[in-house]
Amino acid sequence: MHILVINSGSSSLKYQLIDMADDRVMALGVIERIGEEMGSITQKSNPDKWPDAKSVEHRVIPNHKAAMGLMVDKLIGEDWGVIDSLTDIDAVGHRVVQGGESFSAPVLVDADVVETIRDNIPLAPLHAANLAGIEVALELFPNTPNVTVFDTEFHQTMPPKAYLYPVPMDLYTDLKIRKYGFHGTSHKYVTREAAAFLGKPVGETDLITAHLGNGCSMAAVKRGRCVDTTMGLTPLAGLMMGTRSGDVDPALFPFIAQHRKMSVVEVDTLLNKQSGLLGICGLNDMRDVHAARKRGDEQAQLAFEMFAYRVKARIGAYLAVLGRADAVVFTAGIGENDDAVRAAACEGLEGLGIKLSPERNTTREPGVRRISTDDSPVAVLVVPTNEEMEIAHATQALVEA
Ligand code: ADP
Repeated sequence: MHILVINSGSSSLKYQLIDMADDRVMALGVIERIGEEMGSITQKSNPDKWPDAKSVEHRVIPNHKAAMGLMVDKLIGEDWGVIDSLTDIDAVGHRVVQGGESFSAPVLVDADVVETIRDNIPLAPLHAANLAGIEVALELFPNTPNVTVFDTEFHQTMPPKAYLYPVPMDLYTDLKIRKYGFHGTSHKYVTREAAAFLGKPVGETDLITAHLGNGCSMAAVKRGRCVDTTMGLTPLAGLMMGTRSGDVDPALFPFIAQHRKMSVVEVDTLLNKQSGLLGICGLNDMRDVHAARKRGDEQAQLAFEMFAYRVKARIGAYLAVLGRADAVVFTAGIGENDDAVRAAACEGLEGLGIKLSPERNTTREPGVRRISTDDSPVAVLVVPTNEEMEIAHATQALVEA
């Protein structure tokens, strides 16, 4: 079975074609700057075999329909093609950011599903782009099952005491204001991988998962099910991120608006796009932050410490929520690669049963690995995430059922 995984954003479209027989990525690509003056498509074919070979083309890509047409041309084209025709694609799996309360599992797309996703747009306006991708795919692949996998799905098991905000109840009943959480596909994937590594059934495994990438979120996982997470109604909440503030006093909103004479939208942009690491030290990529720290940049040092401090505080909170944990799991760009952040986030947590091994933490190895000492009551693991593979497997399971 060949499954095409599509992640459609407002001006970009990422795709992977996966051979489910051996979980092999046949091709992966990204189309960028859709709707802008000049766009581009970059595709790697058989990336395991030729990791450095890629095709890059620049051209005007007016909309998502044109983008998907371009993707199809590349996938079956003579030079970089990996399939003979569209019928070689057996199913399409779509990443959808916001499933609201309507979806707690992947679903086969039909007219009702499209309408329900449309109903959820007010909760995440930017993610109307997900729907655009689905609608074009339904046109392009009318006889192929299309499946949606939601970023919010994994977090739908949170209890009301965790997902409700202490605000007037009608904000929940009328406007659906509550904590939804995001990165669910990643938290779910690393939960399963971590349980397998620990040799325990997922349903008996308690974890604290930390997805630290450009966006950052953590989840408390009790017996394999999410019971709390840091992102909220929107991805602005929780941890400090590349450009997002994470949790702040909500009264900052009116305060900034009043003193800087900004609109609500402008304050929202300030907290989402000009804050986090970028706001503190002017750099949003953690690798650049480290380079600046090494040059003695004090703001970069502060940004790094603030970032790790917030992860540590949440590890403590989630240990209290869970009562016990089998492991703390680090994943995504920073979580998988950044030993300094991991060390700072776990520093001084021996009293809570978390003992990092400095040697293991700094040794780079592919795959899932333990970076805690053998006698650490709570294991600390690095688990590479793979959201596309998770979507492909969820799609396959649903299509086969
Ligand atoms: P996204 O959330 O967009 O999927 P990623 O998971 O790719 O993001 O993470 C991007 C972040 O990971 C960036 O802040 C980048 O600096 C960081 N990162 C990637 N590689 C490394 C590395 N080797 N060391 C430290 N940080 C890294």
